[in-house]
Parts: sequence; structure tokens; C-alpha cells
Amino acid sequence: MTQKTFTVVGGGPVGALLAISLARHGYKVGLFEGRPDSRKTDIYQGKSINIALSDRGWTSLEKVGISTEAKRGAIPMYHRAIHDVDGSLSEIPYGKEGDAIWSVSRGGINETLLDIAEQEPNVTTHFQHRLIDMDFETAEAMFSVKDDGERVVNADYAFGADGANSRVRHLAHSFPRFSYSQTYMPECYIELNIPANADGSHRLEKNALHIWPRKDFMLIALPNPDGSFTCTLFLAYDGDPSFESLKERPAVAAFFESNFPDAMEYLEDPVDTFMSKKAAPLYLVHVFPWSFNRKVGLIGDAAHAIVPYYGQGMNCGFEDCAELHALIAEHDNDWGRIFPAYENARKPNADAIAELAVRNFREMSDLSGDPRFQLQKKIEAKFSEQHPELWTPLYSMVTFSPEIPYSEALRVGDEQNTVMQKIMDLPDIEATWDQPQIMERLHELASEAFGQRD
Ligand SMILES: Cc1cc2nc3c(=O)[nH]c(=O)nc-3n(C[C@H](O)[C@H](O)[C@H](O)COP(=O)(O)OP(=O)(O)OC[C@H]3O[C@@H](n4cnc5c(N)ncnc54)[C@H](O)[C@@H]3O)c2cc1C
Repeated sequence: MTQKTFTVVGGGPVGALLAISLARHGYKVGLFEGRPDSRKTDIYQGKSINIALSDRGWTSLEKVGISTEAKRGAIPMYHRAIHDVDGSLSEIPYGKEGDAIWSVSRGGINETLLDIAEQEPNVTTHFQHRLIDMDFETAEAMFSVKDDGERVVNADYAFGADGANSRVRHLAHSFPRFSYSQTYMPECYIELNIPANADGSHRLEKNALHIWPRKDFMLIALPNPDGSFTCTLFLAYDGDPSFESLKERPAVAAFFESNFPDAMEYLEDPVDTFMSKKAAPLYLVHVFPWSFNRKVGLIGDAAHAIVPYYGQGMNCGFEDCAELHALIAEHDNDWGRIFPAYENARKPNADAIAELAVRNFREMSDLSGDPRFQLQKKIEAKFSEQHPELWTPLYSMVTFSPEIPYSEALRVGDEQNTVMQKIMDLPDIEATWDQPQIMERLHELASEAFGQRD
């Protein structure tokens, strides 16, 4: 039997992992990336942008046969460090003792996966190859090659792993019955930096994700191994305050000084950076199908761009790869069955995490506000500690329970919320929440709702 071939468009983290998976199943893979090779050209301009990877991401890498290489240099973050506007600091753990999400360099993990892909004899990488056209009948792809015209590449199958602004997905718009929606969030973002101390140590607590929650906007900071922090300011596109309303230097300086006073001594030129950067939009993309003619598929952000408020975009893309990896074996390389099984398994989960991520903006940006909301979280945490068999908090289901699909986490989380509303409606709950009868009532309600299943 001749060896079947794949074109993977996009050498980001998901495309690189997909190439490894396909190669390990015996396919010959061409991995085509539009940008220069970051290992040879400093396309990140020396800046380390970090993201949070959690159990779903690590488990998915393990399922494709990668574990320790990718985790090297990752920094565990055990809790949220909440910076109040008055400068006071508090901690909210992410889960049980020892549970952590991990700060990893987005470029670093991408490069590690590219290194591993290139060690596979079945993978060939091609940089500065930008996809311009795709034939969805034949999987023939056309690339514009930097300084070298155009190149046509033939393969048996192709995948678009070319990110939130996927060219493959745009080309699929002409495909019959292709459903598509793109929704902008009210917020945009810019990245800021907290440099390391002179001795290379971190200027804020290293093993935490720092949040300055200000209800309608927030600043977050993730630690980097070199002692710096990558910070992201999420702020409305328009309204007051917003990227649109803050155009003059004094207003920008006043905005930072009044909202993030304790961060001012650490942030590197926040006002100049704010003034010089164009805020990036945040948007959701929903599409279906994710495969065309059983020849071409979509994966990662190309199939489901979500917002970053749950820190799950890359985790979800890695999970796509792990699911596909298992389906290739299960369906014995029959792509007539693999493509539909893959998209039907992953689409409900991608939709669920997209929804959860949108909702999580409030959770993050209001961490130090709304006392009733905080009380609800406190009651849930206490109950879950006493009855782990009945109640896993939603955040833990999403982040620390890869065996629970995102869609199930969303469904159970909504049921938990219905139960909690009954508790929060009890008279004088603010004063009585810690008393045994409250936990007993919650136990009754939770047993009714979840007892059978558990
Ligand atoms: C501000 C922010 C914070 C985030 N934080 C987190 C987080 O904490 N945790 C988390 O899990 N996720 C996070 N994410 C999401 C995460 O970055 C993405 O989900 C992840 O990068 C998706 O990987 P990908 O390979 O699918 O797409 P990408 O990383 O976008 O890679 C796509 C690749 O395709 C290439 N490409 C594009 N067009 C073409 C073309 N025409 N031809 C050839 N190549 C092309 C691009 O150059 C790129 O290398 C965050 C995202 C943002 C914006």
C-alpha cells in the first residue's frame, strides 16, 4: 500500500502537534507555515508571550506521546493573586492543594513541538509558505513562497491549522451548507511587561497568576522563566473607560495610576506602551462542518476561535489532536469515518468551552467585587471539600478534569448554579452560610440533582 500524504497548513502549536500525530500513524506530512522559522529569525522581537496550559493540554500531549519535553520551563501557578485597587493582596486557590495551571511560553512550546515534528522521518517543514488557495475536491494546496513565487502541493488529505484568521476556513465559505459566525467581544487587549529584577528574580510572587480585577476591565500577569511577567490589559473597545476614550497621555497616565497603583512601580512604560500599541480585538468563531469532502479538515483555532478568559484555547486545540489521534486508530485510517467522527465529537466541546470562556470574563474581572458572587463561590468550595463525590467546582471540571468533556462541564455547571441559586435565596444567607443547616440543605439539593449519577 502506498504511503498516504497530508498537507498541514499552519505550523503553530496545533499544526505542529497534528503533524507529529499523523506521522506517528504512518502518514507522510508536509507542514507549511507562513511565517519565518522562529528558531532562526526572532519573529517575537525578543518578547516572551506566556499562556496558561492546564491538565487538558498536558494529557493531550501525552496521548500523542509527548510529555516531559513540553513541560520543561513551565511555571506552576497554584492560585490567583488578587490585587485590589487599595493595594491589598489576597489569594484564591485554583483547586485542591497542589492543583496548578502552568505558565508556558507560547513561542517556546511551539518551537519544542516543531523540533519534535522535525525528528519524525515522515514530517517535512516548510517556512515562509503562505497558503493562498485550496481545492476542497482534491486537497491540492497553493502556497505563495517568500521570494520564490507560487508552489502547488498535492496530497491525499489536508488540514487547516492556520489559526483564528484561517485562510483554509475563509476559502471554505464557498462550500455548500457551510455555517459561519464571527462575534466580537466588547473588550480588546494589549500586552505589557513587568521586567525581572537585576538578579533575574521575579518582582511579584512567581507561582501565581496575578489579577487586577476592576469589573469592566482587568490586568493580568503571568510569570516567565527569565524573571519577567507577561501582562495583558483587557479593556473595552469603546465607552468609558476604553481604548477609544483614552487617547491623551494625561488621561492614560491617570487611568493607570488610579486603577493599578501598586503595579505602577513594576510595569515597564505602561503609558507609552498603551499609547503606541494598537489594541487587538477578541472574537469568537463558530463554524460547521469542520471537514469537506472527507478530504480537508479544520483544527485548533481555525475551527473554533474562542476568547482567552478560561485559558483554554490551546488546551482545546491539543485536545482536538488527541481525539483525532485516537480516532485514526479506532477507524483504522478510514478517513470517510474519521472526519465525521472527529467533527461530531469535538464540535459540542468547542462550543461549550467557547461559551464558558465568554462567561468567565465576569468571574475574573469581578474577583474582588460582588460579595454575593464571592459568597456563592465560598459555599461551593466548602461543600465540594466536604462532598467531593457530589460536587466538583466548574473551574476544576474545566481545568483539572480532562476526563470530563467541556460540554459535560458546562451542563453540570449550569445545574450546580440552579442549586446554588436556591441556597443563595435562603434568608440571611450572608450570616448563616457557615452553619451546618446550610451545608445539610445543599447536600439534600445536590443529592437530588447529582446523587444518582455519582
Ligand atoms: C491574549 C491571548 C491569551 C491567550 N491565553 C491562552 C491561555 O492562557 N491558555 C490557552 O490554552 N490558550 C490561550 N490563548 C489561545 C491560544 O493562543 C490559541 O488557542 C493557540 O495559539 C491556537 O493554536 P493554533 O495552532 O490553532 O493557532 P495559532 O497559534 O494561531 O497558529 C496558527 C499558525 O498558522 C500560521 N498561518 C496563518 N495563516 C497561514 C497561511 N495562510 N498559510 C500558512 N500558515 C499560516 C500562523 O503564522 C501561525 O503560526 C490565548 C490567546 C490570546 C489571543
